[in-house]
Amino acid sequence: MTALPVLFVSHGAPTMAIEDTPTRHFIETLGKDFPKPKAVVVVSSHWSANTPMIGAASAPATLHDFFGFPEELYEIDYPAPGDPDLAARMQFLLDQNGIKAGLDDKRGLDHAVWTPLRLMYPDADIPVVPLAVLPGALGDFHYRMGAALRSLRSEGVLILASGGITHNLREYFVRAPDAPIEPWAMAFADWVADRATARADDELMAWEKAPQALRNHPSPEHFLPLLTALGAATPGIPASLLHRAYGWGVLALDAYRFD
Ligand code: ZN
Repeated sequence: MTALPVLFVSHGAPTMAIEDTPTRHFIETLGKDFPKPKAVVVVSSHWSANTPMIGAASAPATLHDFFGFPEELYEIDYPAPGDPDLAARMQFLLDQNGIKAGLDDKRGLDHAVWTPLRLMYPDADIPVVPLAVLPGALGDFHYRMGAALRSLRSEGVLILASGGITHNLREYFVRAPDAPIEPWAMAFADWVADRATARADDELMAWEKAPQALRNHPSPEHFLPLLTALGAATPGIPASLLHRAYGWGVLALDAYRFD
């Protein structure tokens, strides 16, 4: 079996699920040019942990982990099954690479998980295993987690990293959806694109040194999934920038494919 790609998507605001936007339509097209996965591992920016954690629920609940949004968002259900066997295998693969991970058999699917999956696979018939990010760990640790899981791609598992190329909520809340693009957001998104497409992995792992890094990511959790995707990618193959858009002038909604 040929390996499935690794995808990174910026899931934007929770309203991505209900609003008619170019990014929403783009995500609907994802997954159409490779075989249907046997399972999806989703690296979630909305599951922050202190130690590596894998979701091992057999029937994970849909989490509505946001406040003050339209009521219809709270009624969304994404009833995909979990895959406890895959979760255990991930735990084994991480352990083989010197990373001790825990299993959480209660963990549901947060909106970083179900927002893209619901658009890509609306039938919710593919098992989903969430993987947490560790805001206290450095980029190279997230990269190593991805590298440890790379072999799953040859077993029909899609690795989907869900975060945001830029993510400053304070700047987002004071702007309108069609606000002009801020140069500091574009500078960082461009910096990432240049390095991802050149596979300058070491520079991306040290992303805090990039121009405007901390203004775009006052906290790291939305950027870290990209590094796990990068680790799961085959070394040396350039990433493809699949989509670029901005919301509220400050949320870059870029998406990447890694092979
Ligand atoms: Zn988010």
